[in-house]
Amino acid sequence: MTPTLIPHWIDGRRHGGHGERHQPVTNPATGAVSGQVALADHAVVDAAVQAATAAWPAWADTPPLRRARVLFRFLELLHRHHDELARAITAEHGKVLADAHGEVTRGIEIVEFACGIPQLLKGDYTEQVSSGIDNWTLRQPLGVVAGITPFNFPAMVPMWMFPLALACGNTFVLKPSPLDPTPPLLLAELLREAGLPDGVFNVVQGDHVAVQALLEHPQVAALSFVGSTAVARHIHASGAAHGKRVQALGGAKNHMVVMPDADLDQAVDALIGAAFGSAGERCMAISVAVLVGDVGERIVPALVERTRALKVRQGLDPEAEMGPIVTAAARQRIADLIEAGVAEGAQLLVDGRTFDARQAGPGCEAGFWLGGTLFDHVQPHMRIWQEEIFGPVLACVRVPTLGDAVELIHRHSYANGVACFTRDGHTAREFARRIQVGMVGINVPIPVPMAWHGFGGWKASLFGDLHVYGEEGVRFYTRQKSVMQRWPQSTPKGASFVMPTAH
Ligand code: NAD
Repeated sequence: MTPTLIPHWIDGRRHGGHGERHQPVTNPATGAVSGQVALADHAVVDAAVQAATAAWPAWADTPPLRRARVLFRFLELLHRHHDELARAITAEHGKVLADAHGEVTRGIEIVEFACGIPQLLKGDYTEQVSSGIDNWTLRQPLGVVAGITPFNFPAMVPMWMFPLALACGNTFVLKPSPLDPTPPLLLAELLREAGLPDGVFNVVQGDHVAVQALLEHPQVAALSFVGSTAVARHIHASGAAHGKRVQALGGAKNHMVVMPDADLDQAVDALIGAAFGSAGERCMAISVAVLVGDVGERIVPALVERTRALKVRQGLDPEAEMGPIVTAAARQRIADLIEAGVAEGAQLLVDGRTFDARQAGPGCEAGFWLGGTLFDHVQPHMRIWQEEIFGPVLACVRVPTLGDAVELIHRHSYANGVACFTRDGHTAREFARRIQVGMVGINVPIPVPMAWHGFGGWKASLFGDLHVYGEEGVRFYTRQKSVMQRWPQSTPKGASFVMPTAH
């Protein structure tokens, strides 16, 4: 049987491309090929950008309230198709179904925020800045904007971007990850059903070729990127060189500090969920536990027990706590890093490489499986501390004091998320104030900001200025215009050669 072709979405319909290049899409739980995704070349990207360019003037002229009404209908459809979207995510990404539902819900929250666009786009007005003159500022859309997204949240990360971009009056070209290309297509179909005009939202499936075409395309005004740091750095530099506005979110190594006064049962629950949820393939996963003082002796035995007891199953199993790794190559990369940790002298307490895939469910023998892995006595010179593993591996580092914990975190080049577990209000407040990381949790292991607050890390976790979604998202997808107005009756006669000042 010929595998299904997963196409592009251009000008309100599916578009098969020119049949030139495609790559297999696999179900990570079984290793079975479920489809072939088309890979866009320059011509396909250009067709999407031309459709978005043609649709832009009418969409930009559509009153914000009417743009919001399309999003309200989209919201209703997202609720109705919640399960279908979640199942599509599990089928191509592998994460457990309840987690996939959580992903869709977090995406929906951005759509809810974007529905408030009439209020968000309200300008500032000053009457009588000089005699007979008023001045106001307003925000206008940029034109055609593009989003390039990673495999790990195939619905949520696109929804960090396009609801606000569209609400602001831009048209959009999405280039999702080729590893899980179906959820973005479903979103495109729902947008059309919600009444979005053709060409306003387009999807080009593809790899670095499509990304390069977007970077170089003169009609693309701005690029939002989420993915690994090496690519984020390139997108930021190349996008800026091509005159585009760019926000590029990169990788992460998130630490969770556990103080001796913390509720240790709660801390263990938090570490296990945040390290192994979604098989550690989250940019906000906790990958380093920083155990202060005697916390190591007190919680490591419980961490060992809980890591061994993880229910690693195929994602549709209602009991599953953790699913497979996204690809065989990613599984191998993670296994190699575990080996590097052993070679560099870290203490391997639970080895996920020994996991027997038959335990994951029927038909899972050829899937990309790893169990949870736990290291203790990890040191900063080791690769398993320095590199983003992006897998189900938790590294424990033991430090004497909170000051040592902060110093360790500040040594890292990534600064996406961080957490501190404590019962002491002063410790919590000082930690949140002083830590040089973009998103902080106090007794919250995965502090992903709500839709109206905006998401973004610091240092090598974000290149550019503005964070995604929230009010910073509105600023990213619009530019400010200032209008100064005077009506002829008050115009004084004669040219003025001095800088205008209030009179
Ligand atoms: P990735 O960098 O491999 O891919 C991201 C996107 O870039 C994909 O669309 C991919 O097709 C494209 N791409 C890949 N290589 C490219 C190249 N050489 N040139 C141009 N484009 C290229 O990332 P991934 O493996 O899909 O996702 C995992 C990474 O994303 C992790 O590093 C994770 O931390 C990061 N991530 C960060 C955030 C955040 O908010 N900071 C959120 C989610 C994921």
